[in-house]
Amino acid sequence: MLIVMKRDATREEILRVKEKIAGMGYTSHEIPGAQRVAIGITGNAGKINPESFNTMGGVEEAIPVSKPYKLAGRDAKRENSEIRVGSELIGGKELAIIAGPCSVESWDQLIQTARAVKEAGAKFLRGGAFKPRTSPYTFQGMKEEGLVLLREARAETGLKIVTEVKDTLTLTAVAEVADVIQIGARNMSNFGLLEAAGELRTPVLLKRGISATIEELLMAAEYILARGNYDVILCERGIRTFEPSTRNTLDLNAVPVIKKLSHLPIIVDPSHGIGMWEGVSAMALAGIAAGADGLMIEVHPDPGAALSDGYQSLKPHRFKELMEKVRQIAAVVNRSVDMEVTE
Ligand code: PEP
Ligand code: MN
Repeated sequence: MLIVMKRDATREEILRVKEKIAGMGYTSHEIPGAQRVAIGITGNAGKINPESFNTMGGVEEAIPVSKPYKLAGRDAKRENSEIRVGSELIGGKELAIIAGPCSVESWDQLIQTARAVKEAGAKFLRGGAFKPRTSPYTFQGMKEEGLVLLREARAETGLKIVTEVKDTLTLTAVAEVADVIQIGARNMSNFGLLEAAGELRTPVLLKRGISATIEELLMAAEYILARGNYDVILCERGIRTFEPSTRNTLDLNAVPVIKKLSHLPIIVDPSHGIGMWEGVSAMALAGIAAGADGLMIEVHPDPGAALSDGYQSLKPHRFKELMEKVRQIAAVVNRSVDMEVTE
């Protein structure tokens, strides 16, 4: 159920609706919109009678939500959500460019990459400290030490940090450093982790599961939103299909489909999507053309020596070339790429 308030509803009228919802034992979610406030209700097992709200002061109408994702869907909010990350905004006119190594490997590797991606126009530095790897015998990340390096890289460059959380045990440590917490494809259906991230107020970048449908991705986002963390950014990173010649199949259909179904920002990760550096730039540009709100690109100063995902990492000069083209495509789709990092 969604309670749509009148444009001129007063604060008291909004609070009265929220109190009524709390009195029924349910959770209310205030969703501000450009025209009016909507209040989503979660926690109800059965249907709620709209009449109990329709007669309240300031209420325009109480409407049942047809989709299983109540808060992530366009029913809840018609306008696109813009997620604030300090001085940056994800989901607005400006594209969010997130770049950096797959894993944090050393201070030199991290700071060299950070400086290069910043110069090319990225505002966010990515890098995994805790790596959920397919094999337990491959590099698992620098862990806490990696977080320390990420913190230092932010202090040096002003770039915002996007880093992955692997489990609930390390969530607090990751959240202390991350400006945006990444929940990876392998954890998209880790509901305990999604709920724990929902308790935080740090933005979450949620990647699509390896074999997840778009609806499953939106339902995973719903776990975070339902706990009151409304700052969720979705990420299309490729899905497993019958095609073996690429690591994954980047499902660019997901971008317009998600734009239709949801108000949440959606970014594209062509690095994991295609899994080979030669194809990353083409798919990055295609992602922006498709309407994505940003990109996540793996960049490494020496991909041949990378401890993870080197084969899909761009060298810094290639990332710079890509950014020049991103600027051109951005203009065509009425988006922009700002250069200045504001601290
Ligand atoms: C990553 O971003 O390095 C990563 C592990 O991505 P994904 O979860 O999409 O595989
Ligand atoms: Mn990677």
